[in-house]
Amino acid sequence: MNNDSRTPKSTAGSKTAHTVKDKNKNKKNQKAKRVAVVALLCLLVVCVLVAVIVGGYVIFNIVSFAHGEPDIDLDDYKLNQNQTSFVYAYDDEGKTVEIAKIHGEENRVWVNFEDIPQHLKDAFVCLEDKRFEKHKGVDWIRTFGALTGLSDGGGSTITQQLVKNITQSSEVTFVRKFKEIERALNLENNYDKNTILEAYLNTLYLGSGCYGVQTASEKYFGKDVSELNVAESAVLAVITKYPTKYNPLLNPEENKKRQELCLGYMLEEKAITKEEYETAVAYELVFTNSENHVPDEDEETKKPTTDEEEYQDFYVDYVIKTVRDDLMEKYGYTTRQAMDKINYGGLKIYAAVDVDVQEVLNKVYTERIAFPKEADTEEKPAVQSAATVMDYEGRVVGIIGEAGEKSGNLCLNRASESPRQPGSSIKPLSTYAPALEKNYINWSTMIQNYAIVHKGKLWPQNADGTKGDKKDITVQYAVQRSFNTVPARIITQMLGVEESYNFMKETFHLTTLDDSNDVNIAPLATGALTTGVTTVEMAAAYAVFGNNGKYYEPYCYYRVTNSSGSEVLLETKSEPQRVLSEDTAEVMREILKTVSTSSFGSGKNVRRFELMSKTGTTTDEKDSWIAGGTPYYVCAVWLGYDKPKLVPFAYSPAGRVYIEFLDRIHEDLESKSFPKSGKVVQKEYCKESGLLATDACKGKAKGYYKATALPAKCTECSNPAGAVDDVLGGIGESVSNIFDAILPNDNNNEESEE
Ligand SMILES: [Zn+2]
Repeated sequence: MNNDSRTPKSTAGSKTAHTVKDKNKNKKNQKAKRVAVVALLCLLVVCVLVAVIVGGYVIFNIVSFAHGEPDIDLDDYKLNQNQTSFVYAYDDEGKTVEIAKIHGEENRVWVNFEDIPQHLKDAFVCLEDKRFEKHKGVDWIRTFGALTGLSDGGGSTITQQLVKNITQSSEVTFVRKFKEIERALNLENNYDKNTILEAYLNTLYLGSGCYGVQTASEKYFGKDVSELNVAESAVLAVITKYPTKYNPLLNPEENKKRQELCLGYMLEEKAITKEEYETAVAYELVFTNSENHVPDEDEETKKPTTDEEEYQDFYVDYVIKTVRDDLMEKYGYTTRQAMDKINYGGLKIYAAVDVDVQEVLNKVYTERIAFPKEADTEEKPAVQSAATVMDYEGRVVGIIGEAGEKSGNLCLNRASESPRQPGSSIKPLSTYAPALEKNYINWSTMIQNYAIVHKGKLWPQNADGTKGDKKDITVQYAVQRSFNTVPARIITQMLGVEESYNFMKETFHLTTLDDSNDVNIAPLATGALTTGVTTVEMAAAYAVFGNNGKYYEPYCYYRVTNSSGSEVLLETKSEPQRVLSEDTAEVMREILKTVSTSSFGSGKNVRRFELMSKTGTTTDEKDSWIAGGTPYYVCAVWLGYDKPKLVPFAYSPAGRVYIEFLDRIHEDLESKSFPKSGKVVQKEYCKESGLLATDACKGKAKGYYKATALPAKCTECSNPAGAVDDVLGGIGESVSNIFDAILPNDNNNEESEE
């Protein structure tokens, strides 16, 4: 107090002394202040202007988006939620037969707005979004609260949550949040509150694999959603925040605490009366896992049927996966969107399956008929196998990806998804057909059965473990006996590795090749490819030999339509591509017909027909293959262990399975021949020279030749002293003594072949 009375005095004294000076100073100060104020004002105006322009632009964008075309089509979405898709096949008379119904793995059943009890709707609204009826998609009060941290809730309205559920976007970023707000505004502008609430209640995740209130009601209470009382409705409403923490089967106490909170909100909002509130809080909840739960009859009868449900067969799996991939490619869908479309979109898929062929494959593979006998345990699983059967125009008529009982829906399909080393079955694709096409070889071109010098060693060896006997043999015989020595010579001395590789990749459309490692003599000549090939691609490649040179892309469905059939979503057309000349394909096929399959089983039905085949066994005998076909069907079979190891069975177990199912497939088929090109002739050749036989030749045999590229007449027999060097020439380049590099036998086991 004393200080206060003294201070004014002393200041008053000094004030009078400096009045003039101060006045000047004040003037200057005021001027500076004014300038500062003006500058500040200007800055402020600029800032406000910028803010108005930017803000206006943003708001303009939001508003125009909100009032624009519907961004999410709820009607279409609803349509896509509850419709079963069907897969059809055509029977012998061209009529459609249903072969599969597809419904998603996800437990989701749509229930209409009017079938949802009012107190269930109220429970969700009071707990999640009490201003739902009033806001236009975004609750700005809550959003502001959430952004500034004043409220702990996410600030998301029911509309925003619906957007999140439908678009499956759960990443939390500013941009996503902004987009979600835009979409929510747009949704509210295009749909009424009831439609939005219905969609929300049918799509939200409620734990235990349940999407939507109907499945959750069945899951937790074993009853229809229409039968839920107030207490039970609140139980469901609280789950959505943390589906595991509040799962009533797993954590009933946690759920109960929050259920009472929810009932409190309902009372506050006057959705229920005080009396209803008290009854609901006191209500003793009975869950499906409670001791006193009494399952109703429906529940009882439903269970066994779902447990005993048979898996759909591999053809249906193959069609679904192909349609999924095609939807993604054509419409830019994510995997999830494509599968949703298939699982819930009411699609009609017209499959290209031949039900009789598929049935044979299912039987032979499930029962392991003609398979090697061995124990099948979890530690030591029995041998596996896969096969693809096609017609000669790209239609996959049957496919099977597992031997034994099928292990699930959409499980691993070894026929289309597991490339394996093809062994010798690759030789017609990598060596013989290309060299025939280039006229480097013909049926009886003589080539020495002897290893070449490769990386300083004699390589390869034949299946008998030798490097060959150095005798000249015909191309046909080399194929028939599956020698490794001859392809090694054809590729290194005539074709070249690039040409050989390009034929496999471009002509025969093998897509699983390794562009760096497979352009090498070893994989090309013996089939020891880095990744391997699938049975689908092998069958499609071999079809070229049966249809005189045309390649068809494999397909497994004709078309896919919407549920009413009014819109065609996908369609397949396999157009032929001329990849080999007709006569090359036909000569190759005739050579493949000389490969013996007699040790694979009697096959009396299939042996009524022409049969072209090529077996394959890889180095170390870990994979057994056969590819080939009849005038009706072409196919490829792989057999081996999932964890590659020696297949310890008699010669070509794949061949036995092949003859078994082909025999069953051909049981009732009418006789039919491969198409003739009219450009191939049968001629006698000299077994000594491989050239066209003359009267002077002693040993003769018949072979098939391109009419335009016949070998020369044999001169060796009429003139024994004639030029030996020319005998191999015929039509191609001379393949004479260049290979006669003789090295001592070593233990080079790099590649062995059957
Ligand atoms: Zn002769």
